[in-house]
Amino acid sequence: MTIQSTRPTNRAVRPRTDGPTELADRIAGDVYFPGEPGYDEARAGFNLLTDHRPAVIAVPTNRHDVVEAVRFAADEGLRVAIQATGHGPGTPAHDALLINTSTMTDVTVDPVARTATVSAGAKWAPVLELAQQHGLAPLLGSTTDVGVVGYTLGGGFGWLGRKYGLCSDAVRSFDLVTPDGNPLRVSATSHPDIFWALRGGGIGNLGVVTDIVIDLFPVSTVYAGNLFYPAEDAAEIMRRFAEWAPHQPDDLTSAISLMNFPPLDIVPEPLRGKSFTLVRGCWSGDLTVGAEIIDEWRRWKTPEIDMWAEMPFTAADAISMDPTDPMPAMVTTEWMNDLPDAAIDILVDRVLPAPGTLPLILFAEIRHAGAAVARGASAAPNDRGREGTFLLELGSVVPDPHVGLAVESAQRLTRQALAPYVTGAAYLNFLEGDEKAARSASAFSQTNLRRLNAIKSALDPENRFCHGVAFGH
Ligand SMILES: Cc1cc2nc3c(=O)[nH]c(=O)nc-3n(C[C@H](O)[C@H](O)[C@H](O)COP(=O)(O)OP(=O)(O)OC[C@H]3O[C@@H](n4cnc5c(N)ncnc54)[C@H](O)[C@@H]3O)c2cc1C
Repeated sequence: MTIQSTRPTNRAVRPRTDGPTELADRIAGDVYFPGEPGYDEARAGFNLLTDHRPAVIAVPTNRHDVVEAVRFAADEGLRVAIQATGHGPGTPAHDALLINTSTMTDVTVDPVARTATVSAGAKWAPVLELAQQHGLAPLLGSTTDVGVVGYTLGGGFGWLGRKYGLCSDAVRSFDLVTPDGNPLRVSATSHPDIFWALRGGGIGNLGVVTDIVIDLFPVSTVYAGNLFYPAEDAAEIMRRFAEWAPHQPDDLTSAISLMNFPPLDIVPEPLRGKSFTLVRGCWSGDLTVGAEIIDEWRRWKTPEIDMWAEMPFTAADAISMDPTDPMPAMVTTEWMNDLPDAAIDILVDRVLPAPGTLPLILFAEIRHAGAAVARGASAAPNDRGREGTFLLELGSVVPDPHVGLAVESAQRLTRQALAPYVTGAAYLNFLEGDEKAARSASAFSQTNLRRLNAIKSALDPENRFCHGVAFGH
């Protein structure tokens, strides 16, 4: 089997002396070089741990600009990295061309076709707002602050996931600029192999997606929220969740979270500096049935705070309460098919801090998957990375660079301790930085890896798009 190298091409990575002027002349958007005003703003994103130093940054305003920027990089032998919001950085884009798509934010909704057309830099917020005006919903994730295209290229598992699948399943077409700078419309009938690869295997590695068309679904009011239980009861609550979740209908996507709320003013007072066990989720079926299911939890143990209620899906951000201000964050992930007692004990022990100590892991969230998430696996490139039952995400904030090694090691040791209980596959959207390149092959079966490698080799033989998902070593 041919394995595509994850290493950058050895060709010259510095632009020729006439390069700078040439690129700025070719595109309507902005171009920044190191040291110029605007360069630092253009390379910054949500995750403040990303400190990449691209050779040049292009901020395209339209598809034509993207074509020109990619052709420029091809002419100059530059690697190409892509950034929309900076929520999911790959390997640092040092000495590469960084295409920052954040100004390409067009969104339109067609209520008759039940689709949204979304440009490369748009976040979920405007898509949700426009779709909800017609009683429709996109398959967004835990926050409307994430970019639609980056999220969808890696799968996209949100609160409607068990019912409707991953957002990558809902893509009707991509507008792609290939690594040699050719614009292509990619769909089930036009370049079907590339279409297949992009729907869950195309984060930053097969070209620049400038627009996508995605299906919308008839969801307007949901029963959703959080039950806050004491951190001391975490093991007992997780055991109940492990038994309860697999029996729930597809209308319910739920999760259990061990959460150490930081002692910061932005955190509401009752939660500030405290740890909780949260039972959270979203029911998108008959609202009375959803309430009865959560009533079982209430009867079993009264929570300290109960936020489950009927809500418009426009308020979906309230389920996960994700931060929206940029922050230095580190995440990692594992898939599990069961949640045995031993795995629960490891998580409780390593995530919830002993009295008087500060947590190195801010949260451990276990999402219940299966249902449509798993059913879609056989048609998707990232088959292994979506067929597990429980999806674990560990997340930390690194307030000071000196804590970075301790946080990284706390996450790594937790994963090592969990090794007997995990499937070994990664969920691509919860991989970041070097880990994204190092572990992404585990999301694909061997058959799919072979097919992906063939597609990658044909599209990008020099592996210049090497800052996202990698198909091998
Ligand atoms: C707070 C938070 C909550 C999240 N919640 C969820 C969730 O509920 N479910 C879930 O599945 N994921 C979730 N994620 C993960 C998120 O979906 C990924 O990090 C995703 O890659 C972010 O895409 P972005 O464009 O916003 O970020 P960026 O960092 O700008 O891009 C992420 C990656 O996508 C690639 N990319 C971006 N745009 C393009 C393009 N136009 N063409 C080709 N490649 C491109 C880039 O190469 C980059 O590696 C969450 C992340 C955060 C930080």
